[in-house]
Amino acid sequence: MSDTQSEIQAEAAVPTTPSVRFADFGLSPDILRALSDQGYVHPTPIQAEAIPIVLQGRDVMGAAQTGTGKTAGFSLPIIQLLLAHANTSASPARHPVRALILTPTRELADQVADNVKAYCRHTPLRSTVVFGGVDIAPQIAALRSGIEIVIATPGRLLDHVQQKTVNLSQTQILVMDEADRMLDMGFLPDLQRIINLLPKERQNLMFSATFSGEIKKLAGTFLKNPVTIEVARSNATADNVTQTMYRVDEQTKAQAVSFIINERKLKQVIVFSNTKIGASKLARHLENEGVKASAIHGDKTQNERMAALEAFKQGEIEVLVATDVAARGLDIAELPCVINFDLPYNAEDYVHRIGRTGRAGASGDAISLYADKDERLLVDIEKMIKYKFVRAELTGFVAKPSSSPERSGRREGTDGRGERGERGEGRSDSRSASSPSSRSQQHTRSAYTSTPTGGRREKIDPWFLKPYEPTASADVPPEAAAPAGGSIKSPKVKLAALLGGVPKS
Ligand code: AMP
Repeated sequence: MSDTQSEIQAEAAVPTTPSVRFADFGLSPDILRALSDQGYVHPTPIQAEAIPIVLQGRDVMGAAQTGTGKTAGFSLPIIQLLLAHANTSASPARHPVRALILTPTRELADQVADNVKAYCRHTPLRSTVVFGGVDIAPQIAALRSGIEIVIATPGRLLDHVQQKTVNLSQTQILVMDEADRMLDMGFLPDLQRIINLLPKERQNLMFSATFSGEIKKLAGTFLKNPVTIEVARSNATADNVTQTMYRVDEQTKAQAVSFIINERKLKQVIVFSNTKIGASKLARHLENEGVKASAIHGDKTQNERMAALEAFKQGEIEVLVATDVAARGLDIAELPCVINFDLPYNAEDYVHRIGRTGRAGASGDAISLYADKDERLLVDIEKMIKYKFVRAELTGFVAKPSSSPERSGRREGTDGRGERGERGEGRSDSRSASSPSSRSQQHTRSAYTSTPTGGRREKIDPWFLKPYEPTASADVPPEAAAPAGGSIKSPKVKLAALLGGVPKS
């Protein structure tokens, strides 16, 4: 592991409550052993609050988002409660579904399932995950063998219900994870159908990063006398984020991204693109520039998305270029930097994106690129976060009326290395010089479409607007959701770092 990686991981530790230990909750030794396998001794604040309440059988309304440790907060007490039924019988009938955990995205389902599996590993309890976009047959086989804890996205779960490959009539505990996103993604009818299949007497846990009127209404309909648990507000982590807003020439944005990555020697960064095509093109551009990059969006198969995410987590990929939807629910707590290749069309998405960094007390950088035509989006963001950005210019990437694309695409940096920095060495200059004009222009044309209003452009990837297709895809999410309110640290424009002065890591 490189020094940078170990630094990143050291920074990533989730804040825990040192005065409390997992052993204090009366959890089974089998669970404590699994926690110790993970190296967890002290609970996070949400875990410290949630575990005793869930163990009491109470309903919970939890205000928490991914990155707070909420998964263990609900999984550990669920496992403890279900241990009363744990058995080693080979008969599937002895392993009915007793807990159902619903998540909005496949990635989140997969992550929750990994955690649950790890926490159950020394118990006879069985868990599995079902989500769309992958072969249903192995899921059917797993469900038929008998499973106590099912983690699912709503659409694929309903496929199984329809095919009678899952029986939810003995479900004692229901978890709705990231409930706000589920509503944003239009899952309410699916949720209602699923809830109707469950026994009336059950324990309900709902987690959400935001509490809109809709969420409260949903909570009102299915939670019974819930205990509300609130930990650090969803965007409180943004306090640690240094935000920088660079005005650049639209046609040099891709070069600006590779320049920033190389100049800052960034080893783990998510770059947000508003479109799938834009994400793919940018990832290709970065690869051509010698940066290990991959795109993650709805046109990728589930296996491709999971492979890219895993490679990113392992450090094999340095840059994940993602659309908002694809980035939802990703458990990448150790992210030191996010880059907005495009300003998001929804100001809320800006807060959500920058919330990917600066988590868990670590500091983070959020760097955004905007072109003159994006001024309105920028103003929307400023209104939302109640802060006026300093509009910094990234030297060498700013439009000049008479400049050729080649010139505006190259940065005449103080160190004379040009925009590609160290990793670009070995590539021919002619390639770099020609790319801003041809590739970026092509990119700009194909990645964005104008709306009739002429102002804002189409935001939602068409893939996510497709109607629900039973066996192909369970997730049909539009963009949205995200934290709001709270304070955000004043941006610091760190031009010195970009000019080779203050290395971030
Ligand atoms: P979550 O919010 O559940 O996605 O968890 C965020 C990250 O924190 C995951 O990588 C967990 O594995 C990690 N984590 C959860 N609980 C603890 C804990 N008590 N101590 C240290 N790390 C934890």
